[in-house]
Amino acid sequence: MSFFKVNHQSSKSKARLGTINTDHGAVHTPAFMPAGTKGTIKGITQEQIKELKIQISFVNTYHLVTHPGVEVLQKAGGIHNFAKYTIPLMSDSGGFQVFSLAQRQKTINSSVIPVKTGIQKKNNDDYRLDSRLRGSDTMDKSMTGNKRTASVRGDEEPLVEKIDENGVVFRSVYDGQKIIFTPETSMDFQKIIGADINMAFDECTYYPATHEYAEKAMRRTHTWLERCIKHRAIRATDSVSCFPSRQCSPATRESARVGIPPTTATYCTKNQYLYGIIQGGTYEDLRKQSAEFVTAQNTSGIAIGGVSVGESKEEMRNQVKWVAPYLPKDRPVHLLGVGQVDDIVDLVKQGIDTFDCVEPTRVARMGSAYQTKAVLAHIEGINERYELDINKAVNKGDLTPLDENCGCSTCVNYSKAYLHHLFKQRELLGYTLLSYHNLYVMEKLMEDLRNLICQEKM
Ligand SMILES: [Zn+2]
Repeated sequence: MSFFKVNHQSSKSKARLGTINTDHGAVHTPAFMPAGTKGTIKGITQEQIKELKIQISFVNTYHLVTHPGVEVLQKAGGIHNFAKYTIPLMSDSGGFQVFSLAQRQKTINSSVIPVKTGIQKKNNDDYRLDSRLRGSDTMDKSMTGNKRTASVRGDEEPLVEKIDENGVVFRSVYDGQKIIFTPETSMDFQKIIGADINMAFDECTYYPATHEYAEKAMRRTHTWLERCIKHRAIRATDSVSCFPSRQCSPATRESARVGIPPTTATYCTKNQYLYGIIQGGTYEDLRKQSAEFVTAQNTSGIAIGGVSVGESKEEMRNQVKWVAPYLPKDRPVHLLGVGQVDDIVDLVKQGIDTFDCVEPTRVARMGSAYQTKAVLAHIEGINERYELDINKAVNKGDLTPLDENCGCSTCVNYSKAYLHHLFKQRELLGYTLLSYHNLYVMEKLMEDLRNLICQEKM
């Protein structure tokens, strides 16, 4: 069975219906992947994932490598066994968190931005995390009241020691242990995590970056992609599943955390598929160069990265539109870190097959509930605010459902007044019930989009 199959190509746009086949089942595209950053879609149980018919989720390599760590994951036989996932998973390369957290550390520690990174000067006080940031659902100001305070263990700034052409060296926030992310270790970390789809190690260009810096980061990302492909080929010939691979270079072996024995654990993921990542920042010439290079490599899929990192919606969508003509017809295309309804509706038409984002569960924990009526308006091309804030006093005595048009168990069983009460009392169930609703709406949105493509309506 092939990894990806296009089942229908719309004649109205670049939108298409496809199937991604993995060891953990098929994913019907276009599909949305809720973020399961640390091996959990926050507040949602595995049973609820099944109820919601979530097809695939997304895990972050940086977070899992720092905790619980590769030793535990290897012993468990990967994140599927460890967290009891039965659905396909995609892992990122770690590059996004490593580079963005490293940059944040520099920004917070000093008002002077290092010239060598090419980041344009930005006032410390202006620094904030964009709510759309990939993997940023661990930073939750609703729970802290402070936008820069780590709310959850593990969100402290990593102590970055070095960034160079080889990768990034930093110290774990838990035990001070040295962890090195290189293209090779990223591949090995992702092998141990065991997600079905892996990302090549990339440098996510920060925003706003100069053209000079964005170009440097893009070239580095291309070199790293070649190293990832080469390393996987070497590893495939290694008869013993160990970390680091026996045939790794001494530098790679040194760079890995030491003392991990060959595993005897049984992994349920036999096949892992690699995606190369298109970078190039907000520059059209670089995005096109990167698209040409990345699509020419022998990978199972293509991802577009470095978007939704603080730029405007228009800039973000342009970055996708510039590369759309270069995207392969026979391989799946993933857009990293984008999950707002209007963006998804627009970018499915540009040929994007899958999306991942923290947005639905992150805003749910802040009390925002999507409204299906407004989501449908987005599909019609009408921009409308589509969230209800359950924290508002107007909900206090309102015994009607969160969303009259939603069939999820939260809306069927509970009232706005009860959910408002839970949020005001900071009861954990409130976060779960709103996350459940938002994820249900997202799954329904993707199902609607698939039907519209099938009917040649988009
Ligand atoms: Zn609902």
